[in-house]
Amino acid sequence: MDSIFMKIIRREIPAAIEYEDDDVIAIKDINPIAPIHILIIPKKFIPTVNDIAEADAPLIGKLFLVAKRLAADKGVAEGGYRLVMNVGKDGGQTVFHLHLHLIAGKKLGHETI
Ligand code: 5GP
Repeated sequence: MDSIFMKIIRREIPAAIEYEDDDVIAIKDINPIAPIHILIIPKKFIPTVNDIAEADAPLIGKLFLVAKRLAADKGVAEGGYRLVMNVGKDGGQTVFHLHLHLIAGKKLGHETI
């Protein structure tokens, strides 16, 4: 299976990369809703939360560890930030490759993404 994020991981299309290791890539969202809006993406293709397997648990945990690290690096850990994972069409998911949104840098209300 393929996705726009797989193309970014393979460097077939450009992205502003904020973090990368063997398992995870984090990129700036192309259409940010806040001064800091980063997508934390597993390199393994998993379409949605519904497709997470038991064996993926460490990988999913790592998404949060990367989010925490980026929040600290960006100086928003203390002030606060939002982590969002949309699931499926009714959940607002538009890219069907699992990703965690890290949103910060302003006082957040009830924006939807
Ligand atoms: P979702 O709606 O699936 O939760 O979030 C998908 C996010 O991916 C959206 O916030 C959208 O702006 C972002 N996005 C879609 N295509 C691209 C792309 O090609 N590059 C980057 N950096 N972000 C993208």
